[in-house]
Amino acid sequence: MSERILIVEDEEFIAKALERRLRHEGFKTTIAYNGRTALVQIYNNSPSLVLLDLTLPDIDGIEVTRELRQNDIDVPIIMLTARDAIPDRVKGLDIGADDYIVKPYNNDELMAHIRALLRRALSIKTEEPYQFADLTLEPASRLAYRGKRLIKFTAKEYDLLELFMRHPNQVLTRDQIFDNVWDYDFGGESNIIEVYIRYLRAKIEKEHEPRLIQTVRGVGYVLRE
Ligand code: CA
Repeated sequence: MSERILIVEDEEFIAKALERRLRHEGFKTTIAYNGRTALVQIYNNSPSLVLLDLTLPDIDGIEVTRELRQNDIDVPIIMLTARDAIPDRVKGLDIGADDYIVKPYNNDELMAHIRALLRRALSIKTEEPYQFADLTLEPASRLAYRGKRLIKFTAKEYDLLELFMRHPNQVLTRDQIFDNVWDYDFGGESNIIEVYIRYLRAKIEKEHEPRLIQTVRGVGYVLRE
C-alpha cells in the first residue's frame, strides 16, 4: 500500500502543485484547505504524513498540531512556514511537529524531508510491538501472540489487526476500515470487512479466550476488552 500524504494548505494553487509532485513521486494524496477539515481527515483516514501550512483561515497549523498531540495522534507532521516566522517554527517543534520547511521551498528538498521522516516513522513503527490485553502484535515479523499462543496471518488479516491495534478502544467505522486496509473501491454492498473480521476472530479468539474485536451495531468495530 503506498503512503498517503495529507496536504493542508489554503492556497489552492500551491496545494494542487504539491499534489501533482507527490503523485508523480508515487504517493497518494488528499488536500484539506483549512485546519478543521485537516483534523477530520487525520482522525478518519490516518494519513502516513501531514504537510501542514502554518497560516490557515480557521485554526492555524500550531493549533492543529497541538490538538493532535493532546489526543495522542502521532502522525508525522512537516510544518510549512514563512521565511521570517522563526518563533512560530520553534513553537511548532515544541508542541510536537516533527520537522519544518521554509517557504518558498525547493520541491526536491521537500521530497527529501518527506522521505526521511517517513523512514524514521516506519522504523519506529516496526521496532515497537503493539500490545493490547494479552494480545501482542509484532510489525517486524507480522506475527501475533495471544498469551503464548503464536498466530500467523495473511497480509490483509495482518493489516486489519494492525489498524485495530493502532487505535485501541476507538470505534472504527466500516468506511475507515475500508479506506485503511483496502485501497481500492469495492462497492458499498461488499461484505468483505465482515468476512475478514470473521477470519481474524477465528484466529485471535479461540473458544476459551475473551472476545477482543467487538461489533458496534450499525457503525463498525472496536478493539476492546
Ligand atoms: Ca496559508
